[in-house]
Amino acid sequence: MPVPKKRHSRSRQGKRRSENFRAHLAGISKCSACGAPIMPHQACPACGSYKGRAVIKIKAKKKKGKKE
Ligand SMILES: [Zn+2]
Repeated sequence: MPVPKKRHSRSRQGKRRSENFRAHLAGISKCSACGAPIMPHQACPACGSYKGRAVIKIKAKKKKGKKE
């Protein structure tokens, strides 16, 4: 069984572990209707559109949301 020759510093240990805690944003794209960040294969939570057409009615619009 291979054994590490030298102990890794805390800095190096943290650098290795940092990748596990990073927020991976792969797959997140922008809504074609309103530009909000959306998850793949899901309707837009901001405007309720999917593939260019409205599929969900959003009751209350947030202040942040842009117009369609
Ligand atoms: Zn949208």
